[in-house]
Amino acid sequence: MRERRLVVVNAPKPIESDTKRFYMKGAFVEVDCVKCNRPVKLDLSERPLSYPVFNKAFVEHIYCEDCDIDMPVKLILNLSLELVTRKGEP
Ligand SMILES: [Zn+2]
Repeated sequence: MRERRLVVVNAPKPIESDTKRFYMKGAFVEVDCVKCNRPVKLDLSERPLSYPVFNKAFVEHIYCEDCDIDMPVKLILNLSLELVTRKGEP
């Protein structure tokens, strides 16, 4: 009987998503406002990413309402596939 083949697949290339609203519970980005210096938060559990592309940097905008300032930040959402089963395991 032929031995089962195990292959590790990694996906460093951009992967498109068909998810219209991609919420990330518990994830947020916080920056200090360039004008008032107070922390401003982008809460990804409340503001979803729309059709995110994984493994590719993108720009999101964090807005300080007090100062009426938009602060672009560059982010990357990494997605990889990892083989956990080891040779000989079911
Ligand atoms: Zn501000």
